[in-house]
Amino acid sequence: MRIVLLGAPGSGKGTQSQRLMQHEHIPQISTGDLLRAAVARGTELGRKAKEAMDGGRLVDDQLVLGMIRERLAEADARRGFILDGFPRNLAQAEALDKLLATLQQPLDAVVQLEVDYGELVRRISGRRTCADCGRVFNVSTSAGKHAEGELCPRTGAPHRLVQRPDDNEATVSERLRVYDEQTRPLVEFYRARGLLRVINAEGQVAEVTRRLEQALHARAAAKAATAKRSTKAKRVANAAKRPAKAKRTAKAKRPAQGKRAAKGKSARRARR
Ligand SMILES: [Zn+2]
Repeated sequence: MRIVLLGAPGSGKGTQSQRLMQHEHIPQISTGDLLRAAVARGTELGRKAKEAMDGGRLVDDQLVLGMIRERLAEADARRGFILDGFPRNLAQAEALDKLLATLQQPLDAVVQLEVDYGELVRRISGRRTCADCGRVFNVSTSAGKHAEGELCPRTGAPHRLVQRPDDNEATVSERLRVYDEQTRPLVEFYRARGLLRVINAEGQVAEVTRRLEQALHARAAAKAATAKRSTKAKRVANAAKRPAKAKRTAKAKRPAQGKRAAKGKSARRARR
């Protein structure tokens, strides 16, 4: 299963990717991890990426795609993958589409994790990291508050919680604004390709994982059913060609009506 998880900062993408990786036995491919690993190994792509980062520039999409390509060639990615943190904008989504088409490994599903804006702000600004052991807590949840009272395995003293500089409330709304502007358009991009599934990502972590798996497997089941139907349709068409043709014509009319409706909608929007 080849999957992309979409979601705003704080929607739990990273946590859900890790849980999915264990349940589905497919690797989570995080572009952040790929970059760090390539830089550490000193590969050619890694050297170029380091140059960009040291110069304060963004790492070029082509470099990131090159890293994804290398990663997908590894044995554990043969059964599928969960892409986390990429694509973040339309140009990246289009480039990824092309790459996966070349590799003949197109995506099976894209899941959008929906979380209310106020909840996102609460989650991100509640995030704390222990300066000694690196564990991440969320003081906005009861589980987080409880874990906060435990002793640090590193020092034997209570964890020393610090807030990452970009997790404060002002920075959070800026990150959410960038997400809305750059990444949210991907929802329509993938919806148009018939890949999108949207789930409610609020509530218990395990409950969200259950919804996520349900959405993914519903997708696989629907795909299998479509394949079955089209096989059946072919059989019917072979047995009696005319009725099948009539059916197809009736079907072909529908998108045109949809288009007219969409046109009306955009005209209405323009008038506003
Ligand atoms: Zn600690």
